[in-house]
Amino acid sequence: MGFIDKLKEQASSLGSQIDQALDGTKQKGQVGSMRKQRGEMVAQLGESLLEQFRQQQPDVEQLRPQADQIFNLEWQIIEAEKAIEAQKQAAAAAAPAAPQAQAAPPAPPAPPTPPAAPAPPQAPVEAAGAATCASCGAEIPAGSAFCPDCGAKA
Ligand SMILES: [Zn+2]
Repeated sequence: MGFIDKLKEQASSLGSQIDQALDGTKQKGQVGSMRKQRGEMVAQLGESLLEQFRQQQPDVEQLRPQADQIFNLEWQIIEAEKAIEAQKQAAAAAAPAAPQAQAAPPAPPAPPTPPAAPAPPQAPVEAAGAATCASCGAEIPAGSAFCPDCGAKA
């Protein structure tokens, strides 16, 4: 495989890298790897340029395809960074609303507790008519002031 072919292959794999870069959470890492790739390509171009100057009649134009690959990669890096920046700004714009949407709505004030209904006054035992004598335990009829059995005060 020729050197230029290798470069072309790298460039096409970079094309798919940028597709991934624009869609996913590894965007910064992708841009970083593209920058690294660019550095490697620039170094390779430098080597190629040096090889040209070793020759009697250097032809720098031969290296233009390599330079174009690098320019293309630079453009992709810029586009990827723009996309990341746009997403960052969109996220920042959406950020203030997000916590509000997630926060629980304030609880409505609790209704005042109604006052407890007063307990009905307890009917006197005598009125019920079923009192028992505290002394002998005999039943004292309603209205009676004294126990019919032992005569104790009811
Ligand atoms: Zn009694």
